[in-house]
Amino acid sequence: MDRLTLRKSDVQPFLDSLSGDYRVCAPRQIGSSDFVFDDYQSGQEIPFDFVNTLIPPKNLFLQARETLFSIQGTTQPRILERAPEKPMALFGLRSCDASALVFLERFFGERGFEDETVTTRIRHSLRMVLACHTPGPSCFCVCCDGGPSLISGFDLQLTDLGEKLLVEVGSERGRAAVDQRPALFAPASEADHAEKLRQVSAVDQSFERRSYISEGMKRISLARIPDSFWDNCAADCQGCGGCCFVCPTCSCFSVSDQPDGQDYWRRDRWRDACLYEGFTREASGHNPRSRRAERVKRRFFHKLSYQYVETMGRHGCVGCGRCVTTCMGKLGIPDFLARVHDECK
Ligand code: SF4
Ligand code: SF4
Repeated sequence: MDRLTLRKSDVQPFLDSLSGDYRVCAPRQIGSSDFVFDDYQSGQEIPFDFVNTLIPPKNLFLQARETLFSIQGTTQPRILERAPEKPMALFGLRSCDASALVFLERFFGERGFEDETVTTRIRHSLRMVLACHTPGPSCFCVCCDGGPSLISGFDLQLTDLGEKLLVEVGSERGRAAVDQRPALFAPASEADHAEKLRQVSAVDQSFERRSYISEGMKRISLARIPDSFWDNCAADCQGCGGCCFVCPTCSCFSVSDQPDGQDYWRRDRWRDACLYEGFTREASGHNPRSRRAERVKRRFFHKLSYQYVETMGRHGCVGCGRCVTTCMGKLGIPDFLARVHDECK
């Protein structure tokens, strides 16, 4: 893997130069301690010392609500082409969220159908991962093969070395991004790489949170969890859907067709949550998962079953910890797995 360095003072010129080819997005601080992914503005201060963004950058690819296509006419309807989108360049996404984008690309592109709205955005994006040097108290990517540093699934991987960043090139797109700007990059030294390895080792030791993920996966995959356990979890779940909306791998959505002015229709898609009662309600009114316990069981099956490892190459959790901080019922993944460990003997 090619290794270079980029001075932090050259990050803004680098992002400015990318903005000709890409819609550049980067973390931005809001309020005293929160961060969100947003369009990069030239001259914007780029944060390096933050745990992660409140909402995953997934929302740039699978948007909260958008029109998928429009139709004009009824007797001879024709689908109106969407305006082409500029590819995105994401600077500073965390390892867990980059792993989640690989998962989503497979989910929307390799399961017998192709959702090009999502896959095109992901495949054409330039993903510049910022390896973690200080995991947050809810993070457990180290248990989920989701970080804190990656060996694939990025175009450029950045490690904070103080005044400069170590830049590892992970794809042809990443290679082109640095080759086209030779004045900004310098070869990395053995000492730079050694410092990165030291950081990865130190970060690995510093995680406060571990999880019983292997045991939980086995029990869920082999249906070795009693119904009473799901009933107890459902009693603690408020059905708010927060865990689904903050999760970088969750993919639930709904669509609706509606008139859009005279002789026009449009199909809209919006993010949905499998924990909502209406998500699986059918047109007849029948709901195969009318009980919350069934919906909770379904969510954790989709996150942790071997079935997903077989079809997607990994289970559906990258250890970002967002559901830990979001759930008011203590049903974030590590808490849930601890309950499985303690209660499903
Ligand atoms: S965040 Fe917690 S309470 Fe809300 S739907 Fe998810 S599991 Fe239920
Ligand atoms: S299930 Fe929770 S910890 Fe895992 S990726 Fe989703 S939000 Fe992050």
